[in-house]
Amino acid sequence: MRFDIITIFPEMFEGFFSGGIIKRAVQKGLIEINVCNLRDFTTDKHRQVDDRPYGGEEGMVFKPEPIFAAVESVRQSDKTPVYLLSPQGREFNARLAAEMAQHRQIVLICGRYEGVDERVAEHLATDEISIGDYVLTGGELAAMVVVEAVARFVPRVVGKEESVRHDSFFEGLLDYPQYTRPREFRGMKVPQVLFS
Ligand code: SAM
Repeated sequence: MRFDIITIFPEMFEGFFSGGIIKRAVQKGLIEINVCNLRDFTTDKHRQVDDRPYGGEEGMVFKPEPIFAAVESVRQSDKTPVYLLSPQGREFNARLAAEMAQHRQIVLICGRYEGVDERVAEHLATDEISIGDYVLTGGELAAMVVVEAVARFVPRVVGKEESVRHDSFFEGLLDYPQYTRPREFRGMKVPQVLFS
C-alpha cells in the first residue's frame, strides 16, 4: 500500500519514519510512503502556497492550484481516494482505518494556517477527515496518526495478525487488562485467575 502525503513541512515526517513499526513495514516493502513538498508545485519565484481569504477575515488560506497539481502528480488512478485533513471532517476511527487499508494508494493533504480553499474539499478530496474535536496547527500530526492506524491493518505490518484482531475497537470492544512479571509489585498482585 502506498501513502502520499502533501505538506509544506516534509521534514516533520523524518522522525516518524525512523523507528518502530512504520520503519519495519517500509523496509519490508509492505507499505510505501511518499512525502511530497507542496511548494514544489508552485509556479512563482516565492513558492507561495497561501493567500488572504476573501471576505476580510484574518490569516492565510492554502491556494487551490498547488494542491490540485500535487494531487494530480501523485495519484496513480482515479480510484485513489484523496483525504483532506480537517477539523471539520468525518471522525477518524478504527472502522475507517480498516476501510482505508483496502486501497492500494491513498493521498493525504495536510493543511496549515486558517485551512484550505474550499474548492479542494468540494472538487478534489474524496473525503475530509478529522482525528478529533480539537484544532492542531497543521495536518502533519493528523497524517501520522492516520498512516500508523491504517498501516496496522495492512497484512503482515503487525507481526501477529491475531494481535490486531484482539486490539481495542476491532470488534467494537476494548482490550482486556494486561499484566507481566513480577507477579507481585509493591503489594500489587496480578489477578489470581491468570494462573488458574
Ligand atoms: N480554521 C480551521 C478551523 O477552525 O476549522 C483550523 C485550521 S488548522 C489551524 C490548520 C490545519 O490543521 C487544517 O487545515 C488541518 O489540515 C489541520 N488540522 C487541525 N486540526 C485537525 C484535526 N482535528 N484533524 C485533522 N486535521 C486537523
